[in-house]
Amino acid sequence: MSATTTKTLPGRYCNSLTEYSPFVTREVFIGDLAMGGNNPIRIQSMTTTDTMDTLGTVEQSIRMIDAGCELVRITAPSIKEAQNLAEIKKQLRNRGYNTPLVADIHFTPNAAEVAARIVEKVRVNPGNYADKKKFDQIDYTDLEYRAELERINQKFTPLVKICKEYGTAMRIGTNHGSLSDRIMSRYGDTPHGMVESAMEFMRMCEALNYHNLIISMKSSNPQVMVQAYRLLVQTMVAEGMNYPLHLGVTEAGDGEDGRIKSAVGIGTLLEDGMGDTVRVSLTEEPEAEAPVARALVVRYTERLKAKRQKVEGFEAENKNLVPPKHNPFEYKKRDTYEANAFIGGHMVPRVVVDLSKANLKDPAILNDAGYIYSPLLDKYNMGEQSVDFVYFADELPSFNLPGNLKQLYNYATWQKLTNKTLCHPVFTLQEYIGNVDRSSALNLVRLKPADIDSDEFGALPFSNSLVFVLETDAIHGMADQRAFFFKMEELELEVPVIVKRSYPEDHGPWTMIHGQTDIATMLQLYSATDLGALLVDGFGDGIWIDAPEVDTKIITSTAFGILQATRSRISKTEYISCPSCGRTLFDLMVTTQMIRSRTSHLKGLKIGIMGCIVNGPGEMADADYGYVGSGVDKITLYRGKEAVKKNINSANALDELIGIIKDDGNWVEPVLEN
Ligand code: SF4
Repeated sequence: MSATTTKTLPGRYCNSLTEYSPFVTREVFIGDLAMGGNNPIRIQSMTTTDTMDTLGTVEQSIRMIDAGCELVRITAPSIKEAQNLAEIKKQLRNRGYNTPLVADIHFTPNAAEVAARIVEKVRVNPGNYADKKKFDQIDYTDLEYRAELERINQKFTPLVKICKEYGTAMRIGTNHGSLSDRIMSRYGDTPHGMVESAMEFMRMCEALNYHNLIISMKSSNPQVMVQAYRLLVQTMVAEGMNYPLHLGVTEAGDGEDGRIKSAVGIGTLLEDGMGDTVRVSLTEEPEAEAPVARALVVRYTERLKAKRQKVEGFEAENKNLVPPKHNPFEYKKRDTYEANAFIGGHMVPRVVVDLSKANLKDPAILNDAGYIYSPLLDKYNMGEQSVDFVYFADELPSFNLPGNLKQLYNYATWQKLTNKTLCHPVFTLQEYIGNVDRSSALNLVRLKPADIDSDEFGALPFSNSLVFVLETDAIHGMADQRAFFFKMEELELEVPVIVKRSYPEDHGPWTMIHGQTDIATMLQLYSATDLGALLVDGFGDGIWIDAPEVDTKIITSTAFGILQATRSRISKTEYISCPSCGRTLFDLMVTTQMIRSRTSHLKGLKIGIMGCIVNGPGEMADADYGYVGSGVDKITLYRGKEAVKKNINSANALDELIGIIKDDGNWVEPVLEN
């Protein structure tokens, strides 16, 4: 067995960058459930009960299945839990539930070998199946590295043989946060390391002629996760493999943040036709996850019917479309000029909201755009989530606006304004070409991707006050807008672009699942997919979400949430909280809310909240601080990867954590609103 090194080449990772075209994978079976190939994208989730609590696990599994789960994963930390899977399975079958079960394994090959004889699928983590993680840097010679692989092969082979004998499927599930010291030492903490971690195990399976595999590349950072899956597909295809992909963002958190972060990662890949099964990890009850996964997937049901195409390599069309400078495996923000200090260049992406339909006699409407109005003082307080531009179309507010808030008006209305300070015009392409009366500071021009090939575009007078507002009404809108960015790169045009997406009342997928999923959640998921997929590739100097049915407050927080999840503009604390499982040592939902209530003003800090010390420290990834369950009522606190307070009482743990943040000089007092 050789320690193959896969080169990261600028290259292809999907069938088409312009049309929805699924990457058709090998069909595998998990019990009777077919996955991959031409099958629908399967929905799955994981229980949070103690696996020894048979009744609790059975009842939670039933709630998950009733909510739409097609596979149920259950942790098996040791042999006794693995054995109890037989009882759980029996009771589920007795109650008429035949949903396949998956055993989740970390560190314990012996538990995996028991579980593989009982359930339909086992999940192994190549970072800890036969490797360890102590954050040691080890310099292996090639010979030593090969010897390590041979050692792992010997430990892993018995499981593969059992899976072959019993017809059990296997997920090789890499986690960014739990790469082994061996992989980290050789490949670093990178998407490349994640891919190699799985490929080593996949090559061992292939050598044993075992192909009932599903692969995942999870991370709590959607950017890393997207790059890893892309690189995995490219690497698999180069080695003649096409195993189904399980998509997920780990430790996504809860509520709006968890949904947006999941959609950025999972949605970006679904847009490019990747993904055979989806698990959304939320720090919530597990039955809350399937509806979110289903809402993400349902958008592709219609597109999937239209397109089934097997492509062996990713050549002709993509080669012509992608500018040579663009590398889909690395993040680089597109080069743009700074339009007179308003937008573009090195500035963080700007947020635009439409207030043209609000009551423009009431100054409090700006609360929803992040400017908190104090009637007592007749002034506004700005926060980290105050929008940069408000669009009034052809309406005029009858109150004074905050001194730093930029206003956008349709061109004809802007022309008539007597005081144009902080007021900027929004042109159509034809208006911009046909009129010389423009703003000396900032001119926004609305266009669609196809306009770039038009005569009008060729006649545009370029100046660094020009900014594009890019709209689309294509079904595959993200790819439509991305093609515009590719062409801009090819033409070496550095005009900043605000990406606008509209979700009108009759938006297709909304009508399909409305009633099962609320409209605010759908907006979070779809806009995070559409805009997030561009931002993770460095495209977009601003975002504008237009959704007439949704409250402006939700639109504003969604926009900032997308920028946070794509790490392009940090406006709040980030919580990397695990979804919990049978190992969890405290109530994650309650604890996350408690920690959030006292630290949510610490903009830019990343706090990991992990249910157990076995996997938690590894899976906190790049958190600045960690709050990790280490025993009953015991918490261990981390600064980065270092445990700084061990096994302290949970009653004092949050105060102690805040003390550490204060000692590090990272604490600020929360600002009280007037
Ligand atoms: S970190 Fe959380 S989800 Fe992961 S094994 Fe521990 S308790 Fe379970």
